[in-house]
Amino acid sequence: MSIPFRVGLGFDTHRLGNGGPIRIGGIDVPAEVHSIGHSDADVLLHAITDALLGAIAEPDIGRLFPDTAAENRGRDSEEFLAEAVRRVRASGREVGNIDCVILAQQPRFAPHIDRMRARIAEMIDIPVTDVGLKAKTGEGVGAIGHAEAIAARCVAMVYRVIPEGNAPS
Ligand code: MG
Repeated sequence: MSIPFRVGLGFDTHRLGNGGPIRIGGIDVPAEVHSIGHSDADVLLHAITDALLGAIAEPDIGRLFPDTAAENRGRDSEEFLAEAVRRVRASGREVGNIDCVILAQQPRFAPHIDRMRARIAEMIDIPVTDVGLKAKTGEGVGAIGHAEAIAARCVAMVYRVIPEGNAPS
């Protein structure tokens, strides 16, 4: 018997620079810092993209979209996520749910969580109730706690779509 579910894990870190806003979860959040990166540096979308690619054992975001490639400079990370979702569906699967954590000392993300969830749900085309998201501080220690870096982690579950009529009775 094969189990039609698979899970994937995504992890990403970016350095922070002075001056906001910060691009995260597909939206611009008012902040005194911004993420530094080759693309638009959306740490959360990068973690989600890698979780989805990991769930189907495809090459990660760094291999699909190298930061040495000129076409990826300043690129909207929504395009990376869209490619991961396309590959999930091309494998005959659907995205079940994702659950993510942002790790950052600043800004305070709590007031923006639901707007990010709605945007991410729209991008993946799943119900917002299938997008878990929370933010934690670095408790003032390490690179995250000193607001030198921001990180995100994400797990994703995907499931095989069984064609109508082939469902086990
Ligand atoms: Mg990244």
